[in-house]
Amino acid sequence: MPIYRRVALLGLGLIAGSMALAMRRGGLAGEITGTARSAETRAIAKELGLCDRVYDTAAEAVAGADLVVLAVPIGAMGALAAEIAPHLEPGATVTDVGSVKRAVIEAVAPHIPEAVHFIPGHPLAGTEHSGPRSGFAELFDNRWCILTPAEDADPQAVDRLRRLWEAMGAHIDCMDAAHHDLVLAVTSHTPHLIAYTMVGVADDLRRVTDSEVIKYSAAGFRDFTRIAASDPTMWRDVFLTNKDATLEILGRFTEELFALQRAIRTGDGDHLHAYFTRTRAIRRGIVEAGQDVDAPDFGRVKAGR
Ligand code: NAP
Repeated sequence: MPIYRRVALLGLGLIAGSMALAMRRGGLAGEITGTARSAETRAIAKELGLCDRVYDTAAEAVAGADLVVLAVPIGAMGALAAEIAPHLEPGATVTDVGSVKRAVIEAVAPHIPEAVHFIPGHPLAGTEHSGPRSGFAELFDNRWCILTPAEDADPQAVDRLRRLWEAMGAHIDCMDAAHHDLVLAVTSHTPHLIAYTMVGVADDLRRVTDSEVIKYSAAGFRDFTRIAASDPTMWRDVFLTNKDATLEILGRFTEELFALQRAIRTGDGDHLHAYFTRTRAIRRGIVEAGQDVDAPDFGRVKAGR
């Protein structure tokens, strides 16, 4: 039995495209409608058959939908919510997939009518690719999806959305939006900023030639470059909207970096060894939790070295 009668996907990129394919895989939506900003993306979505019907406007796409998913960059969510508000069906649920929660709630919630449920969400799954062709049905399998409903949210509406994500392969946690933003600043946002910086630094270093950087990248740099290839619009919005938590974690990061710098300068091998032992245990925990594979070279089998 489908969990929702009609699901409207607003934005048809990596996340919405993967949701469409995961919902089709499990027969979770009676019908899927969708729209995107550009005619080109709408045409690709039609060609791929992501939706049963692709509309030119968000207002048309949400008509009659019992679930509406905002899957556009964070900075575009408020305007989109204002645009669809008059066209939402009473009793429907609006959710989003934005990587930051507090700012999205502030931008979207004021536009949601009384009779409509707003249940913010964030699937912790993604790749460095974007656009309608980058989606795949397995993206959410065994990944976490965090819901941040308000305290007075309708429990049945929350439960229904939870069942959808679970049926798309995800595990669900519910938490407060501010806590979500802090957790993600540690696990995703700051690491991305560090990767962007490291790749930028390598780009600036004139003593190491570009060809050497590329040739020897398997020594660690390659993993930074993959993260640093992530969508610039999405990540600009993440840092503009999760400012406080990211700055807090960056402050701590800088302190630790200075401590390591000092240990290197003073030859404090014990400090370095203890630190790296602790970080190794964190990696082991991630593998044990099934969030990564323990294969050598992060599971790359045939990638060039
Ligand atoms: P994406 O592949 O770049 O797709 C974004 C979609 O939004 C496209 O259909 C695009 O339309 C549309 N769009 C872009 N700017 C718009 C605007 N100003 N107004 C209306 N529509 C606009 O992005 P995505 O990776 O799916 O990310 C979507 C959301 O998911 C973001 O909020 C992001 O924070 C969140 N998220 C991303 C990841 C990840 O790893 N990528 C993971 C979890 C959550 P056109 O193609 O026509 O421009």
